Amino acid sequence: MKTTHNHYDLIIAGAGIVGSSVAYHATLKGLSVLIMDTKGPFSGASGASDGAVSICTKKSGALTNLALDALKYYNSLSFKNNILSKIYHKRPSYYFSTNDKEDQAIDDLSNKIKTLGNPVSIKSDRPGKESINGLGDKIHRVLEVAGEGHILGYEAVNTYLNSQNIKHAWPCRLTRFEENSSHVKVHTDLGTYIADHLIIATGVSAGLNLPNIIESHITPRSGQLIITDRTTSTSDLKGPLTSASYLLSKSYIPSELSSPPIVIDPLSTGQFLIGSSREDNSGSSTTDFLTVKRILSHASSCFPPLLSRQVIRVFAGVRAAVEDGHPIVGPISSHARVLLAKGFEGDGICLSAIIGREIIDFIRGKEFSKDVQTLTPERFTV
Ligand SMILES: Cc1cc2nc3c(=O)[nH]c(=O)nc-3n(C[C@H](O)[C@H](O)[C@H](O)COP(=O)(O)OP(=O)(O)OC[C@H]3O[C@@H](n4cnc5c(N)ncnc54)[C@H](O)[C@@H]3O)c2cc1C
Repeated sequence: MKTTHNHYDLIIAGAGIVGSSVAYHATLKGLSVLIMDTKGPFSGASGASDGAVSICTKKSGALTNLALDALKYYNSLSFKNNILSKIYHKRPSYYFSTNDKEDQAIDDLSNKIKTLGNPVSIKSDRPGKESINGLGDKIHRVLEVAGEGHILGYEAVNTYLNSQNIKHAWPCRLTRFEENSSHVKVHTDLGTYIADHLIIATGVSAGLNLPNIIESHITPRSGQLIITDRTTSTSDLKGPLTSASYLLSKSYIPSELSSPPIVIDPLSTGQFLIGSSREDNSGSSTTDFLTVKRILSHASSCFPPLLSRQVIRVFAGVRAAVEDGHPIVGPISSHARVLLAKGFEGDGICLSAIIGREIIDFIRGKEFSKDVQTLTPERFTV
């Protein structure tokens, strides 16, 4: 373990859930770590998001495979007294349709789940009114899925960073890096550090000397979220109620959808977290009345008990969206000691734990799994 003269085994830029998970997994293996952030921990998307650990919302292929591994890994990290046992919760999730096209999306999801096996399964598949008390008349059908989970990004970041001896620096911005055969020189606005490896987990933010060809494939996509006051009445809704249009929004341009993508998430506090918009090329974390009104109007017509709740807060986070819908994970071809872990869009809470473990295994000499190999930055440079 190297910590002398500002020399670390690993320096991580970005203290979101991805960077913090990498830091946690590194210290488990005895590596010395410095994590830095321009503002502070969870100041990016990880502090302004929902926390669904969902396989149903993932595109088929590598992302679905990784989400399945992620669910299994979260189950082990939260088992008994393990690190995430107090903050990761398994819960049912509900997916609903409101028209014929969305019925088809629910059929497709149902067929997909049947092929996945443990830990997800279909608990029930019923017409709207028979499924959960309080559902609106417009709901056609509800698929209840067992085995998915939830973890709040800021709680995960705090837990990872406080669990081990992880040095941090904030506010501290990575400005550029230089690599030679034995180490990386990491330049920041607080000075220069040396590391064996540098992990760039900076979410949507760019402005580094990364090959332009990679950065040009990442765009900001903001999402607005609404939080209600607490209800004391118990609800049948024990997990998120997600519209089929949300599933479709992963493959369609949002304006082509027949209803706005929504998730109504009952939090353990008794509040509801309702989201979220997908606004392309928006790096803004401001909210606007019309978008919030559109989300609330559709959400309360699908789940009318929301009409008796008050909105207490509205906020927005910015996702890092990659052109091909997949994150970018792996070494930059021209810099073998510098790895990217960026572009997680709406999947970073779900995938962060498993990606942290994979990155540390990789820098200790193991190959990435087949699915992580597909996320290589090289796919944009060949
Ligand atoms: C509205 C919304 C809802 C979402 N819901 C879900 C969900 O239910 N499930 C799910 O899995 N995902 C969800 N996501 C996506 C998830 O929040 C992100 O994928 C995840 O938080 C990304 O984590 P990250 O660590 O890559 O990036 P971030 O959390 O953005 O962290 C990057 C950090 O890097 C820092 N930084 C930037 N540049 C520099 C620099 N040069 N030097 C040092 N530090 C720097 C930033 O300050 C920031 O703290 C949602 C996102 C949004 C916006």
